[in-house]
Amino acid sequence: MTERTRIQSDLSDAHLETYAVRGGQHRTPESEHSEPIFTTSSYVFNSAAEAAARFGGDEPGNIYSRFTNPTVAIFEERLAAMEGAEKAVATSSGMAAILSTGAALLKAGDHVVCSRSVFGTTNVLFDKYFKKFGIETTFVDLTDIESWKSAIRPQTKLLFMETPSNPLGEVAEISELADLAHANDALLVVDNCFCTPVLQQPLKLGADIVIHSATKYLDGQGRCVGGVVAGRETEMNEVFGFLRSAGTTMSPFNAWVFLKGLETLSIRMKAHCESALELAQWLEAQPKIAKVHYGGLKSHPQHQLASRQQKGFGGVLSFEVEGGKDAAWTLIDNTRMLSITANLGDTKTTITHPATTTHGRLSDEDKARAGITSGLIRLSVGLENVEDIKADILRGINAL
Ligand SMILES: *Cc1c(COP(=O)(O)O)cnc(C)c1O
Repeated sequence: MTERTRIQSDLSDAHLETYAVRGGQHRTPESEHSEPIFTTSSYVFNSAAEAAARFGGDEPGNIYSRFTNPTVAIFEERLAAMEGAEKAVATSSGMAAILSTGAALLKAGDHVVCSRSVFGTTNVLFDKYFKKFGIETTFVDLTDIESWKSAIRPQTKLLFMETPSNPLGEVAEISELADLAHANDALLVVDNCFCTPVLQQPLKLGADIVIHSATKYLDGQGRCVGGVVAGRETEMNEVFGFLRSAGTTMSPFNAWVFLKGLETLSIRMKAHCESALELAQWLEAQPKIAKVHYGGLKSHPQHQLASRQQKGFGGVLSFEVEGGKDAAWTLIDNTRMLSITANLGDTKTTITHPATTTHGRLSDEDKARAGITSGLIRLSVGLENVEDIKADILRGINAL
């Protein structure tokens, strides 16, 4: 086959950056260069017999976009290649990815151990909704392996964690928790939202399932809500089975946006990491800043582990100002460029006061335990020139 007529790139043993650009694409007879968006809810068959064979599962092929769509399939194949997974299942949101995983793999009477510092809504999903269906969850300190061990019961089926954590950037050793899970016939699920496969591939460290909110860095430009689950074919077939029945499906348009996001993911993550490290070091030298939390700083308690486990420290950092909530709000309100929003993983730098927004639901006691002080501010460092970000934060600091 000549260069001009071939319909698919040869991607055996390619690198992550190459998968990000070319993975999963199967050109149609139209020879399009960029991936097409298939905005169709259903598909037609050549004959009644073909329809019957498809519905009966005797013949592969599309039936209905609640469960398969060619644009969504490109995204799934591409993300699976980037995470080193056998298969991925795309979902309508990051929460739909977690719901689909839990609903597919757990049943009444099962038990989950989850790190306390996970995304707030993940906490609610396990603690309120899975509980309603007889699945209990114990929340533990992410970095305390003993608390994970002592939380495990004979009914434990899933260990769930996010590393690094939000907003303090605490890090847990994935291989250690994978060993613990497997010694107890449980699966380890890692929400890899903050690192993306560019900085960390949990499956290669022993995790069984990786989850993403594609809404964050995978899109990277704050446009669409989506999610994805990746792992071994056995578990992913279960997750797909749930999605097919429950309709937690990603839209083809969103899949296309995420595909375009993946193509630039590795260069974006490098830039996010570089600016975040520079800002963290700069903030550490500012007199009115009491403490900076960022895995890339030598002062961070898990700096060594983060250096070993991750290829970079990510784009999210947090810092504490003296003077509590009033000082934090003054700093935030005196910036003029930064976006005051709770979203993260965007090209635009965002600034957040966790104690009154993302973590506002927690009791004072839980906030204290999670290290969410009233003077804590979170930054998701974007792709503006880092000097402009510093200048804007300085307006805030000078107002204190
Ligand atoms: C945002 C987020 C989620 C939820 O994703 P949605 O796409 O908003 O449903 C899950 N985990 C982490 C770490 C997140 O930041």
